[in-house]
Amino acid sequence: MKNLLSMEHLTIEEIHHILDLAQAFENGEASSLARTHHVANLFFEPSTRTKTSFEMAERKIGCTVIPFDAGFSSVTKGETMYDTVKTLEMIGLDAVVIRATEDEYYNELLSGINVAVINAGDGAGQHPSQSLLDLYTIKKEFGKFEGLNITIAGDISHSRVAKSNAVALQRLGANVHFLCPEEWAGSFEAHHSWDDLIEISDVIMLLRVQHERHKVNKSFSKESYHQEYGLTIEREQQMKESAIIMHPAPVNRDVEIASELVECERSRIFEQVRNGVYTRMAIIETILKERE
Ligand code: ASP
Repeated sequence: MKNLLSMEHLTIEEIHHILDLAQAFENGEASSLARTHHVANLFFEPSTRTKTSFEMAERKIGCTVIPFDAGFSSVTKGETMYDTVKTLEMIGLDAVVIRATEDEYYNELLSGINVAVINAGDGAGQHPSQSLLDLYTIKKEFGKFEGLNITIAGDISHSRVAKSNAVALQRLGANVHFLCPEEWAGSFEAHHSWDDLIEISDVIMLLRVQHERHKVNKSFSKESYHQEYGLTIEREQQMKESAIIMHPAPVNRDVEIASELVECERSRIFEQVRNGVYTRMAIIETILKERE
């Protein structure tokens, strides 16, 4: 694995390798990298979890993290992404983790760049490290993907998390269901009511409404969205005993999920954050190992 750009590029074997390595790291295994690698995190969109989690993961496997402040970088002076990344390569970096607003921003980096590129989210495109940490969370819980009923609910067409997970989970044998208002279904065949889904789901994965990606900002009522598409306290009571709740966060409490459910027994929302560090250690280690 030279880069990590989209879940569509990963083989099933590569996915399982990363999940197994994440488990090994969680069990206390140390990094087997032979040298110190230099990495930088280029975040051109807001982030709390992903940026901090990558930095923690990088440090835990012995990388040197070179500070990069997107808001004060030469991109604000008109420099292209290609020239910025090429510059960091010439300075001596081994890998860059990038989050940007444009879908598939990484296409301009595919030739001429030798530093490894890890996509930490491209617009409404993909978010592969989130998907891998979600897969890790599901595998830890159920030990398998085949036959699980997984409902992804929310702003499907604008969500890079939904798109990354849809591809990966279907390939791994899960039955993936989508639930959203009609205008957010995009190319997905979606349900528009919880009726057939709440009682059969093993995993309910909620998504934040991506207001920042809506071209037309229609009026939006948090209360009616919560009543129609959110996970309310009443709906949670209808879930299977073994079913879990996931959300990539940030959570908008009482919109996509009732505030009281965020840390309820079946919620794995904060556990996902913890799992993210091991998963990102596994991603970076796998990529850097190939460069040694
Ligand atoms: N943190 C996730 C992302 O960057 C989910 C979200 O922002 O709603 O896509």
